[in-house]
Amino acid sequence: MPLLNSKAVILHSQRWGEADRIITGFSQRAGKIRAIAYGARKLKSRFGGVLEPFNLIQLTLFERTPTSLARVSQAELLESFSAIREHLHLMGQAARMATLVKAITADHDPNEALFQALVGGLRALTTTPDPQGVMLVFQIHVLDHAGFRPEMGSCTTCGSSLGTARGWFAPWSGGMICAQCRHTQSGPCLSMAPGSIAFVNQAKRLPFPVVTRLRATGQVRREVEEALDAFIRTILGTPLPEIASWAAEDEPRYALPVSSARS
Ligand SMILES: [Zn+2]
Repeated sequence: MPLLNSKAVILHSQRWGEADRIITGFSQRAGKIRAIAYGARKLKSRFGGVLEPFNLIQLTLFERTPTSLARVSQAELLESFSAIREHLHLMGQAARMATLVKAITADHDPNEALFQALVGGLRALTTTPDPQGVMLVFQIHVLDHAGFRPEMGSCTTCGSSLGTARGWFAPWSGGMICAQCRHTQSGPCLSMAPGSIAFVNQAKRLPFPVVTRLRATGQVRREVEEALDAFIRTILGTPLPEIASWAAEDEPRYALPVSSARS
């Protein structure tokens, strides 16, 4: 019996030892997983280019020993989103998507909605004329599905309804604060117009791929981008890199994590 047989998106692929790779993937059935693919860097490897970042694959894992990383037994390519690899700016957005999912999720915590957002986000990148717009709604969905849904309807400090007035996004509070509370708080706040608040609320309600048709321009785009950047930086403790470190090929300097992926 395999440990896991599931669709998965490769978030990160790292050289290991002489000829192996350690992959981090987000799987449909087991959430974020790490596994070792023996011989994956050999010329005649049966894995070929299947374990490259952003690929959607059918993945089968076996566990080597009770305390070691799971072993990749089979990996079959389902969708490569090849257009992403042809344009550096699409690679950059896809890398930000993978970095966000990798950083914001815990190991072995399945999340169907988040998995669908990841596949939907990568797929949308291959066809959209507006990759930054796709990234914007992707971030809103991932925050929502990962349990960091920003509170946009009422003040996070006093609870009063914000109505349709301009509000202030306070990343440290997890959402909006009202005009009155803003004067009693010392943390940084970002001004948001009613249209920007409405955009975030609408993006939360619409599923992929429909949500990618939502357009933010001008002030709305600027305000929503700034609020999401600040919120994600607060949650992760670091900003999302423009070109993420997913491609870094360094050998890891830390000990291998213990894996207990379940089927
Ligand atoms: Zn308030």
